[in-house]
Amino acid sequence: MYPKVTEIIKALQFSSKKDEELVKEAYSFAKKAHEGQKRYSGEPYFSHPAHVALSLAKIGMTSEVVSAGLLHDTLEDCDISPETIEKEFGKEIRFLVEGVTKLGHVRYHGLKRHAESLRKLFAATSEDVRVMIIKLMDRLHNAKTLKYVKPEKRERIALETLEVYVPIADRLGMGVVKRELEDAVFPFAYPKEYKEAVKLFKKAGGEDEKTLEKVHKAIKKKLAEYGIKNFRTEVRVKGLYSFWKKLQRKGGDLSKIKDIWALRIIVPEVADCYTILGIIHAEWTPLPGRIKDYIAFPKPNGYQSLHTTIHTGYGGVLEVQIRTEEMHKEAQFGIASHIGYKEHGSSKRKESVGMRWIKQFIPARLSFSNSKEAMTCKIKHRTYTGNSVPEWLKHVAQTGCAGEPNEYLEEIKSDFFSHRIFVFTPKGDVIDLPIDATPIDFAYAIHSQIGNHISGAKVNGKLVSLNETLKNGDIVEIITNPKSHPTRKWLEYAKTNMAKRFIRSYLTKQGEKISQKK
Ligand code: MN
Repeated sequence: MYPKVTEIIKALQFSSKKDEELVKEAYSFAKKAHEGQKRYSGEPYFSHPAHVALSLAKIGMTSEVVSAGLLHDTLEDCDISPETIEKEFGKEIRFLVEGVTKLGHVRYHGLKRHAESLRKLFAATSEDVRVMIIKLMDRLHNAKTLKYVKPEKRERIALETLEVYVPIADRLGMGVVKRELEDAVFPFAYPKEYKEAVKLFKKAGGEDEKTLEKVHKAIKKKLAEYGIKNFRTEVRVKGLYSFWKKLQRKGGDLSKIKDIWALRIIVPEVADCYTILGIIHAEWTPLPGRIKDYIAFPKPNGYQSLHTTIHTGYGGVLEVQIRTEEMHKEAQFGIASHIGYKEHGSSKRKESVGMRWIKQFIPARLSFSNSKEAMTCKIKHRTYTGNSVPEWLKHVAQTGCAGEPNEYLEEIKSDFFSHRIFVFTPKGDVIDLPIDATPIDFAYAIHSQIGNHISGAKVNGKLVSLNETLKNGDIVEIITNPKSHPTRKWLEYAKTNMAKRFIRSYLTKQGEKISQKK
């Protein structure tokens, strides 16, 4: 059976009577709309949106997002018009439902168009990240019920999930969703490898489980002895797909995987994290090269935690992860944990959420290339090579991965999102530009006439020159003057082909006019 409306309402965080009414209405509306339709599993179709809505409520989404989750398939599958949704539930919910419906048309067609699908999805994400969160939960429920789908279709959905949706869940910092997606589709995407992974996982994990409880107890006892009272612990087991991928990276060497089991210690303050790390290192011998400070150096998706691997004293090793409650919540739900209920209601909210999450989750444009001669790091508009690479950047390169620096480099290189920046108009519209774009590109991206008459630009309220490099999350205001026109210099400043085309066309026309006068 599927979640009852009371169960969904109970899962809502900070809900008012009005919120509950809204969810109830959306629930019965969607239930009626899907009446008579069935899932592949033979269950009523409505079980799907009900599950999607429940998972949205569980990760702290508002009543509007939960309602949009209930209604997300009504446009596509039930002949309900967007106007009807707006009439019954308002503009905002219509926007969300339409957004999810549009994303439904983005299909995965093999690796060639992979990047394009990602781009579309990500562009939609920056428009309103809530649309993407609904879509992720939609995919998650479909992934969990994949066994009922026809085999031919099943493989496509499984691969698409791994290639398109998992990177997005990861980019949004939604660790729990990423892992659930991966493990749900792994058997259908790679059946042979899945069976092998199950076998190896048992082999690798068996011994550790028994000692884990002993170490777990010992650590708790030690912390208490040091007077640390305010903490909780939890044990986490590595996801099967993540285990398999890591094993591939390690050349199939099981002995190199040391984090099948990990102990998490969750504390109130950042300072507590370092105190506890100190205590653990004083009492248990850490493995060299495995201490990672993701608090000082967060992962590109915003992940923060201290990681260390210790000798348990029972012949094995154990990874210990230390973090605050806030970091813990973020590691599980990422962006979703930032869309608080409190900002809800004002019309400004959508923009500010977009702003904030982009700043939060793309802390710096960082890219590395590691040729044989020298390591090159590019951060923002500065490039470091060889000896000029600062220590801290090397540290990021070396600690940002599970062991080998190269893993991190590969991750960065393959990170599609790091090639684009998202900047904003003063009204909050998102403009998607390549890295190193300038106000000229921005102006032409808005309108050719704005481009042709740009006379100055303000970035985050400050006047800048026209060749200023824009950064992710910048708010750009273009100042125009009817007397201002493109010059040859602008061609050097422009990075996008669109801007260059307009500038060239203008310069050519001017050239013709001048030669006619002569
Ligand atoms: Mn759906």
